[in-house]
Amino acid sequence: MNRLSLLIGALLMSAPATAQTQPDWTLVIHGGAGVLERDKMTPEREAAARKGLDAALEAGSKVLAGGGSALDAVEAAVKVLEDDPHFNAGRGAVFTYEGTNELDAAIMDGADRKAGAVAGVTRTKNPIALARKVMEDSPHVMLAGKGADVFSAEKGLEQVGPEWFATDERRQQLEKMKAQKTSWFDVDMKYGTVGAVARDKAGNVAAATSTGGVTGKRWGRVGDSPLIGAGTYADNRACAVSATGAGEFFIREGVAHEICARIRFKGESLQAAADTVMAETRALGGTGGVIVTGPTGEMAWSFNTPGMYRGKVSAGSAKTVAIYGDEQ
Ligand code: ASP
Repeated sequence: MNRLSLLIGALLMSAPATAQTQPDWTLVIHGGAGVLERDKMTPEREAAARKGLDAALEAGSKVLAGGGSALDAVEAAVKVLEDDPHFNAGRGAVFTYEGTNELDAAIMDGADRKAGAVAGVTRTKNPIALARKVMEDSPHVMLAGKGADVFSAEKGLEQVGPEWFATDERRQQLEKMKAQKTSWFDVDMKYGTVGAVARDKAGNVAAATSTGGVTGKRWGRVGDSPLIGAGTYADNRACAVSATGAGEFFIREGVAHEICARIRFKGESLQAAADTVMAETRALGGTGGVIVTGPTGEMAWSFNTPGMYRGKVSAGSAKTVAIYGDEQ
């Protein structure tokens, strides 16, 4: 056999391996971006965060491995993080200036671009479940405040008192912010919003994001997380995105939709689109990050902060959980 035929043989053999690089399903999650550095983190906090991220990956991947939908998977993963007090969503949400917890969440199905979102809700144990109810059981995309709370109770979602959401650590962050008279973006910069994006075996993508917003928010402030196109977006023609960071800048950039648009119209890779949009957001003054997956099975994350709580898993590969910028 001459060298050329050996080379052709080797190339042909590698073809099936290339085809296999598209996994059957994918899941990427985040638990917020910020100044997450080793010397600022206690071993306990780091271990708790990694455990929470791992549990969320487990919940979502169980759905996907069993042939469930991307929509069910992102909801399942986000619920785990909402129930975990170490993240700024559901239990453990940050406090408003007035010392209450007001929660925002959104979910979107890339198959038909149906979406549901809630802002400033105070009673629903899992705001992401309420966002999904809005999507599936109302003619609307977004409900806010008292009306959203009423809708939630009417639909029979689990209701809890304010003490469920409130944690001492978050209360201390509010007190620190007030004492130092800093702006809400200065408090530790560990945002802690949670999100998930997934692609299922059928090739559909979905995105979900849930948050308490930012410490000390006032006057009914709503961030990017529940805004379709800003903090959350999913479109089978491009990708699914969930964002975390200084919401005001993410809204102005239209981060999640902008990433999908670059992929759809410019044919960019998910990573290139995410990196470009995060750089543009940074140029506006916004810090934070995004997670992305697409119908091709590509997975990406991008952040312009020292770290981001994050994790990923796909069919046939092990779970990865990371916090610091220098981790894979
Ligand atoms: N993006 C969220 C907001 O501005 C905060 C966060 O990501 O932690 O409400």
